[in-house]
Amino acid sequence: MASKYWIKLYHEVLDDPKMGRLPDRLWRRVIELFLIAGEEHRNGWLPSVSEIADKLGILTEEVFDNLATLKKVGIIYMDDDGDHKVVDFARTQSKSILTSKKVTSYHRYLRSSHWEQIRTSALQRAGFVCDLCGTTSDLEVHHLTYDNIGHELPEDLVVLCHDCHRKEHGYD
Ligand SMILES: [Zn+2]
Ligand SMILES: [Zn+2]
Repeated sequence: MASKYWIKLYHEVLDDPKMGRLPDRLWRRVIELFLIAGEEHRNGWLPSVSEIADKLGILTEEVFDNLATLKKVGIIYMDDDGDHKVVDFARTQSKSILTSKKVTSYHRYLRSSHWEQIRTSALQRAGFVCDLCGTTSDLEVHHLTYDNIGHELPEDLVVLCHDCHRKEHGYD
């Protein structure tokens, strides 16, 4: 691991009940997984379980076990192909996070015709399927970053169904 990079670790993790319930060795594993996700540059997606095991010098069984526990507490998401990602990683790593003051204007923006156009083109680009589970119903457009609100780049947005969107935000 010679590459140089940073990840952001928000102090909110200290108040996060999901994190609070974790035993110390899993806390360590979470940080290691965050670092690996940061190294991957794939919006929080992790490499395969065997690659993770290699990187950390532990058995794949242990990685499977850890990921399953972290999935239960909502820190890790697993898709149908068995790929794992860190929930909400891309956004916590972006330059700006929404403060409560900004939330009001953000919600106003989501009702604008400008957003409606951007949203529609995102859906078209995605072929009207959820990026995580492939379903075609209840689609929503999720911001991977709030850095470019009002002039979002294609890579800032991802189409998710309602259920996957909730998971992405760590709501269950
Ligand atoms: Zn979905
Ligand atoms: Zn979202």
